[in-house]
Amino acid sequence: MPLADLNKQEIEKLLSDLGEPKYRAAQVWGWLNRGARPDEMTNLPASLREKLSSIPYGGVTIEQKFFSEKDGTVKYLFRLEDENLVEGVLMRYHYGNTLCISTQVGCNMGCKFCASTLEGCVRDLTIGEMLGQILAVERDEPPKETGHRTVTNIVLMGSGEPLDNYDNVVGFLHRVTAADGPNISPRNISVSTCGIVPKIDSFIEDAPHVTLSISLHAHDDETRSSLMPINKAYPIDSVIAAAKRYAQKTGRRVVFEYALIGGVNASIADADALSEKLRGILCHVNLIPLNPVPERGLDGVSRAEAERFAARLNERNISATVRREMGTDIEGACGQLRRRILHEIRG
Ligand code: SAH
Repeated sequence: MPLADLNKQEIEKLLSDLGEPKYRAAQVWGWLNRGARPDEMTNLPASLREKLSSIPYGGVTIEQKFFSEKDGTVKYLFRLEDENLVEGVLMRYHYGNTLCISTQVGCNMGCKFCASTLEGCVRDLTIGEMLGQILAVERDEPPKETGHRTVTNIVLMGSGEPLDNYDNVVGFLHRVTAADGPNISPRNISVSTCGIVPKIDSFIEDAPHVTLSISLHAHDDETRSSLMPINKAYPIDSVIAAAKRYAQKTGRRVVFEYALIGGVNASIADADALSEKLRGILCHVNLIPLNPVPERGLDGVSRAEAERFAARLNERNISATVRREMGTDIEGACGQLRRRILHEIRG
């Protein structure tokens, strides 16, 4: 396994196999949690650095970054060691910085409004590559005070379907929350899924303290199936039932994401039907005016229309807000940046 994927026990085993004393494992673990490469592990003897250098690393580097003039959002294009590219976005809020990371190169889910899935899924990301996106950002923008992090919150909402890369995502969540490691609180992490119902049930058991977001985008099967092929396998009522089980078991509210698409799901009648569908569930609705992807031919809605939709849900006692649009001047929509750069590279 690449170095960046190893947890503390695996590093202890590796170093003991290399004949090293135990305290070296703690040193290596510390370095790996900061994204250091073997040649930067300055308190190790040169011979050990050399041995570690001969093992694949499995890390992430920043290929390009783009700053939003409007709100300080930074969009990253990350490079993986096999030359694949994935995207991430750093968003600044008053309570800290949220990094949106990718879980796969591309995606297999085929949602009709999304740029990430246009060319399918190339491969899953490893544990080290998910963590590596955070560490690359923190190496690039070190925290202002020692003992603090640049990235305080994480959302798994970049390219890919997290529950379609289940084992690595759960492994990553354990790794990034490790108290003697990166130590990011599970309460500061959200995982977003298109609604793979059996995996949601496993997830409730394996990562109960993480916030679950479910991409709903419609209140009826016909519209949802036309936007999200996964709905044909797991229809909307089965997704909502799984959301209820999550809320009941964890006592935490589930977040429903709802991209407002003009002429498709964004009327006041849609808001009324949605509020009936969600009645009685401990939940919050996150409304996102669709970020139109040229290849997809679907329209967004105005901020005012989105606010009206939110107000209607709130009147009907369904908690809802319109997500602040961030970085729209730098291709914030999933997968758009990677596609443009790939087209430029491939010509
Ligand atoms: N596969 C996961 C997570 C990745 S996408 C999921 O489906 O939830 C993160 C969110 O962005 C999802 O709600 C997704 O439906 C939404 N999204 C994708 N493309 C979008 C676009 N062009 N405009 C607005 N939201 C979009």
